[in-house]
Order: sequence, then structure tokens, then C-alpha cells
Amino acid sequence: MSVLDLARPEIRTLQPYSSARMEAGGGQIMLNANESAWEPAGAFGFGCNRYPDPQPQPLLQALATLYGVRREQLFVGRGSDEAIDLLVRAFCRAGQDAILVQPPTFGMYAVSARIQHAAVIEVPLTQDFQLDVAALLAALTPAVKLVFLCSPNNPSGSSIPRQDIERVAQALAGKAVLVVDEAYVEFSDQRSVADLLDRYEHLAVLRTLSKAWALAGARIGSLLANAEIIALIRRIMPPYPLPLPCVAAALAALSSSGQVLARDHIAIVREQRAVMSEALMKVPGVRGVLPSDANFLAVRFDDAGEVYRRWLQAGIVVRDIRRYPGLQDALRITLGTPEENARLLAVLNEGRA
Ligand SMILES: *Cc1c(COP(=O)(O)O)cnc(C)c1O
Repeated sequence: MSVLDLARPEIRTLQPYSSARMEAGGGQIMLNANESAWEPAGAFGFGCNRYPDPQPQPLLQALATLYGVRREQLFVGRGSDEAIDLLVRAFCRAGQDAILVQPPTFGMYAVSARIQHAAVIEVPLTQDFQLDVAALLAALTPAVKLVFLCSPNNPSGSSIPRQDIERVAQALAGKAVLVVDEAYVEFSDQRSVADLLDRYEHLAVLRTLSKAWALAGARIGSLLANAEIIALIRRIMPPYPLPLPCVAAALAALSSSGQVLARDHIAIVREQRAVMSEALMKVPGVRGVLPSDANFLAVRFDDAGEVYRRWLQAGIVVRDIRRYPGLQDALRITLGTPEENARLLAVLNEGRA
């Protein structure tokens, strides 16, 4: 059996949209796409009067090298959010199929499923935000086509041990696609599971330039998976997902000087994570700081609502995560610059004086 047997049959046979840019490129006089012949004002040299390459080779090559995969194992889209949406659309039949998630976790899996009218099966993480492999496997039904694992997890910050991910991968063979969301893996000691792609044809990995690569505004996210899944996703992608200025921004960030800068900032975040975790733990009214492998801390308070409002009054915005199961007393604090983090601490301590 092929992993594509899990996909929606009508997607497998769909005749994809064939854009002008895909049918022909590389001429000197381009009169095939109803574009303007003139660059717009303030064009910054991007050539934005022309439609962009749907999957530009230089960006694919740079990301494939970064993530250690082959180009045919990579789809690049508008953030990993788009990849999540396309996976759900490709694999879940409306009103019939389901995804499986582990709350408290990233909300977009369930939102994309509901848009597609796919069911959402929830297997909560344990009290200390670990994956319950046995409960996950027990909750599997034939309707489940996608199992999402988020590691490190948003909003708890916890990672799933590699051997647990492998156990799930082994159990899902022939049954469902395992999607491991690694949006924060650059901040973790644990390495990516992308090296397992050649071993599990039903494994998919989500990576993004939005967090460690400082490009949230450019919307560049990747799906790593075996070539069959990638080809299927490319059949249903929007005609031109990647705007030229965003591709240029990504290539600059991935240049050798860009990589040095990103690694410097990751090191600062990791250092600040330890510093802030320890400092917050000492503040009266703080019940606990969850261990985090990501660029944020989930922090429990005696009165999270009051702390949230106090920071807001000082112009500091954090994420209220009290609606998540197991986190009813918690706020999620993204690690900023050392100065920003110090200010956050000072405002918290002022209220205690
Ligand atoms: C931020 C985040 C994303 C979204 O990334 P984009 O590439 O910006 O769409 C995906 N997954 C998780 C868990 C996130 O926290």
C-alpha cells in the first residue's frame, strides 16, 4: 500500500490548476500571463509585475540544505499554517474523516479540521504535558487520517522524546499520516525528526521561518515529507503562494551572515530562558514556571488575570492561556530582548513592593 491510499480519492485524481508560470518560463518577451509589462512604482527591484515562481528553486535548495532533506521532500508555503491546512484538505474527507490532537496544543490543527468539516479527536497530554502514547494509540479509529504531534509544544513548551515519536510512527504505518510540528525545534536540545523521513513514508514534519529565523511577517513555512505526499500537496497549493519580496527576505535570512545572526539570537533566547525562568520562580505570586524547550515560558500565577492587566497597563502584552486545559492559572511569555525581559520582571516586582 502507498501512503496516498490514505488521501482523499478525488484529490488524487484532481486535474491541478496549470498556471502560466508553470507552463512556460524563461522567455525574453513574456506575453503569456496577462501581467503588466512595467514595474510598479517603488518596486525595490523585485520584478513584482511578474507572477512569482510557485516553488522557487533557490529557496527550495536553501531550505532543503537547512533541513537536511531532498528538494522533492519539501513544500514551501505561506507559513506552516498553510501546510497544516493543505494536509487536512488532502487527507480528510468532509463529514467522514478525523484528525487527532493532544490538548493543550496549537489551535490551528483543530481550526483547519473544522473548516474542512473533519472531526477532531482529543487525547490530552498528561499532567506534566507529556505525550500519552498508549492513550493516543487507544483513541485511533479508521477515520483518523492525520495525527498531529507538536514538539516543542505550544503553549506548554515541552518536547516529546524522540523514541515516543518513533513509537507513534511505527504504530501508524498504513493507518494515518504522522505530522510532527517543529515550529520551535531550533530552541531545543532535541534534534529534528526529519532524518526519519526515509524510514517512514507516512511521516511529515512542519518547519517555519517565523520563530527562530525572525520572519513571521514574511510567511514562509515548510512541509517535509516523502515525495509522494509533497507532489500531492503541490497539486492543491494556491497557484503562487510565495510573494517575491518574501522569498528575497528568506534568502537573505538564510545567507551565511543571516545564519550567524539567527544562531546568535537563538543563543540569547536560550540563555534568557534560563535566566527568566529562575528569576520568575522567585517572585511571590508565581506558582511555577513550566520547563520550556521553546522561545517562551508558560508561567503559573496565584492571580494570572491581575498580572496580565498589570503588564498591559505598563504596555507589556503577554498571552493569556487560561482557556487551555491544565493551564487555567497560566500566562505565556515570549522571550524578548534582555532589556524587554528585565522590564517585564521589574513591572512584576513593582507590584509586590
Ligand atoms: C507559530 C506556530 C506555527 C505557525 O507558524 P507559521 O509558519 O508562522 O504559520 C505552527 N505551529 C506552531 C506550534 C506554532 O506555534
